[in-house]
Amino acid sequence: MSIFYKSELIITNDGPPLREGIVELNEDGLIISVFQDDNFQDYQFVEGILIPGLVNAHCHLELSHLENKITPRHNGMAGFIDQIFSWRDKSNVQECTNAMLLQDKKMFEEGVVAVGDISNSSISIDVKKNSPIHYHTFVEVMGMSPASAQSRFDNGVHLLNEFIENSLTNSSLALHAPYSISRKLVELVNAHLKNNSTTSIHINESNDELVFCKSKSGPLKEVFEKYNLPVQDFDNLTIESVLIDFVNQLTNALPFILVHNVKTTPEEISATNRINKNLFWCLCVNANQYITGETPDLNVFNNDSINVVIGTDSLASNYQLSVWEELKTISQLNNQIPFERLIKWATINGARSLQLDNSIGKIKPGYAPGLVQVANINFENPIVTSNSTARKI
Ligand SMILES: [Zn+2]
Repeated sequence: MSIFYKSELIITNDGPPLREGIVELNEDGLIISVFQDDNFQDYQFVEGILIPGLVNAHCHLELSHLENKITPRHNGMAGFIDQIFSWRDKSNVQECTNAMLLQDKKMFEEGVVAVGDISNSSISIDVKKNSPIHYHTFVEVMGMSPASAQSRFDNGVHLLNEFIENSLTNSSLALHAPYSISRKLVELVNAHLKNNSTTSIHINESNDELVFCKSKSGPLKEVFEKYNLPVQDFDNLTIESVLIDFVNQLTNALPFILVHNVKTTPEEISATNRINKNLFWCLCVNANQYITGETPDLNVFNNDSINVVIGTDSLASNYQLSVWEELKTISQLNNQIPFERLIKWATINGARSLQLDNSIGKIKPGYAPGLVQVANINFENPIVTSNSTARKI
């Protein structure tokens, strides 16, 4: 039996927005038809705006127990990493699981239908298996010493296989960040990505990162030495652009989600988009504000030729895992970004970055995108204000 929803405005990502449109769904949430008919009566009215389900392109569900544990803006990026290291091995499995279950539920209620989730352990497997959210797991590998590259890679593949054996087949390897990996590890991961599987990396997050990658010095070096990491072995020094260097090294990263971009320049975007046609630029502005207070230049990204996606990062660096809260902050930082473009970033672009754009991201017959009601919003001239809300229907 079909269910019909009507709304003042529907953003379909499949043609222009529909005024007073109607969406027909079957019991499984599959869209049967989308139409306008003033005489049609048998519908449920949804106040506000209907959009496809949201996609969180960058999350670390397994860090959910660190909510309110990390002091915001404490000595920037290096201070953040120092605090994360100090919390290692301090939490028990049940505490972590309860925190993940709660956040998974909250994300779903807000209308998140897919998450690109970084994992360093198998602890999230059960939560993901039983979730209505579609997770793509990025099994993260790192290690700055070339001598440990093979064993770090082997451990990553072993963990990846654990996810796949548990029916979480949308999983792939991802490198952590330019400052924590060796060239050998990049080579191994790149070779493993040969089946065109999506991957990601944290990049251009802070000045501390660029200083370390260009001169092996600065606050990050001090933190790494404090925790006895093999800084002397780090061989991933970059002369010019760290970003261009990595896009050049990771030739099999298709799609490639570049996370943070606080320091990314228009020149780097043009140059890298010529090298790799499948780049996705992930903004995590609330996490940036939490860690350093510095955010990307959003004017640079306010352009349909650049594939922008939205991430929340983790509760170690954010007050909530909410894609809608990210859009609110972006709107506050830059009120020139059109509403439809913001929705595109948080829906279809995220779906494309996770290779799910054949089933989610569009309100279109044959898709099962999940429907989200955006309320407390002016549907004549929509703006993502601080009062607006998103909720799964
Ligand atoms: Zn992250």
